[in-house]
Amino acid sequence: MATPKAQYNANKLQKRLRNAVGRAIADFNMIEDGDRVMVCLSGGKDSYTMLEILGSLQKSAPIHFDLVAVNLDQKQPGFPEDVLPAYLDSLDIEYKIVEEDTYSIVKDKVPEGKTTCSLCSRLRRGVLYRTAKELGITKIALGHHRDDILETLFLNMFFGGKLKSMPPKLVSDNGEHVVIRPLAYCREKDIIPFAEQKQFPIIPCNLCGSQENLQRKQVKAMLNEWDKRFPGRIETMFRAMQNVVPSHLADPSLFDFATIKATGTPVENGDTAFDRESFEDTSMTSPEFQPVQTLDVVEVR
Ligand code: SF4
Repeated sequence: MATPKAQYNANKLQKRLRNAVGRAIADFNMIEDGDRVMVCLSGGKDSYTMLEILGSLQKSAPIHFDLVAVNLDQKQPGFPEDVLPAYLDSLDIEYKIVEEDTYSIVKDKVPEGKTTCSLCSRLRRGVLYRTAKELGITKIALGHHRDDILETLFLNMFFGGKLKSMPPKLVSDNGEHVVIRPLAYCREKDIIPFAEQKQFPIIPCNLCGSQENLQRKQVKAMLNEWDKRFPGRIETMFRAMQNVVPSHLADPSLFDFATIKATGTPVENGDTAFDRESFEDTSMTSPEFQPVQTLDVVEVR
């Protein structure tokens, strides 16, 4: 039995997640009246949280939308196939478990010792797109959260040479579906205790035997370290993703640098050009500050 204080904190946490999801849905027009939203459920903490919060928003939303939970059973050895049906039956919601042995295909096609994730995710995507079509789905919801988005931004900068991340809403690579990420504003450090409180029946994500992506692990460690040492930095970086200034980057396809001409009139808040911008960031100058060195040089392929 939870104490009143624990109950109060649990309610506060749920409210924070609900607000974050509600804001993301509104900001990106993720869900519209009449949508059939396929909630991709892997059995991890993030997708359970997404389903729970979307279900709670559905009850009070001024629009009508359906939720259909979909899990893909990839036939990995040891996959506990009763866990999700039992959980979803208890929620009394529409769901579908798709059984497709992509595990054997991956094992068969990828040589021993090589990374399996790229083929595995390609096959999974194909099955999910096909399922979305069969179920008359209008939006496919994925459980990536704010920290996944920031990690991907850094991974792309460090190893891909691109300023790019995972957008909250996009058109699928086959052009046929709209994909949404309702947890885009949710912090992983809220999702972890929420999943614990709700006692979601988590299915381990290492059943395929594949190693967790080393580069992502390192970037995650770097961001967690920053979050501990410099509170607020993660939030500021995420805000930066929503506040892009193409004229102050260096991509000629986004801004027409070639035809720039002096206008002869002062520009309000204009660029002083000759000075480097300086910021009040006392955390960087504090005696405690030491550059984080959790990232080793990793070969880019
Ligand atoms: S970790 Fe395993 S299940 Fe996940 S994408 Fe990689 S190979 Fe597939």
